[in-house]
Amino acid sequence: MEVSLTCRSFIDYANRQDWRNAVLNLNGLSMYEMLRSLKALDADDITSLRLALAGLEGAVNRPRLEYALFVVVNTTLPATTPGDIAATGQLAEARAFQARPRSILVELIPKARVTGYNVGLTNASNATMQAQFGAPRATYSQSCQAVTHTALAARMVTRSVGPFRVTGLDSAVTSLSTIMASIEADQRLVYRVLGTAGMHCARYVRGSTTSISNHSWGTAIDLTIDGILDPRGDNGIQFGLHLIASSFNANGWFWGAGFTTEDAQHFEAGSALVRTW
Ligand SMILES: [Zn+2]
Repeated sequence: MEVSLTCRSFIDYANRQDWRNAVLNLNGLSMYEMLRSLKALDADDITSLRLALAGLEGAVNRPRLEYALFVVVNTTLPATTPGDIAATGQLAEARAFQARPRSILVELIPKARVTGYNVGLTNASNATMQAQFGAPRATYSQSCQAVTHTALAARMVTRSVGPFRVTGLDSAVTSLSTIMASIEADQRLVYRVLGTAGMHCARYVRGSTTSISNHSWGTAIDLTIDGILDPRGDNGIQFGLHLIASSFNANGWFWGAGFTTEDAQHFEAGSALVRTW
């Protein structure tokens, strides 16, 4: 489902901890987006938001916001349903959320609606990678196998890049630390639920018997949002991945949303960057 502009504004203000404007935007959301947007906040954020809400009495529909807060914080429905919430289908939305409480950051946006990424960037081809680093090994399968190229194997390091530890090519891991610092500064809501499904892994591209994955050289990473992996090839893109793609692009990394088979969980060092390593 598309994420509304008002919802995007709410996330922007929440990232900046401008809670007054966050509440004003939250007030304009459908119950569906309101519940999922609140789910992206942590306990400290909720406390700050409640304070701002108390100061906005009269400017917003406070009973409706309190209702949504109750549902998200307690994962249960309040004993009484205020105003027209039941009559307008919002109670049904709250029940659906209660059955499957998910953050707006994992909401899938149609790929066709996501634009302006990978500008000026190309993914690194197998030829580029082999020319730069050599062949990681002689044969591949769909499973991770050891790198047999001695010099390349020596460049694989395991380090924390901020939200998690990775094993990858030394230069790629360093670059990833810079990207993560940028995400922490600009997108703190995504940063704190960011996880990884792996970086270095010598194998073929999923479903291929000829194309070597750039994970083989340790220059690609797969990410999770709130522990959830964006399904590959469904042309749906997690909102949280969309929010951080610009941090990767700005540092020369290509986003897998741009592959023919959509792979939004995947980011890899672009060809120009790889040539500097
Ligand atoms: Zn990947």
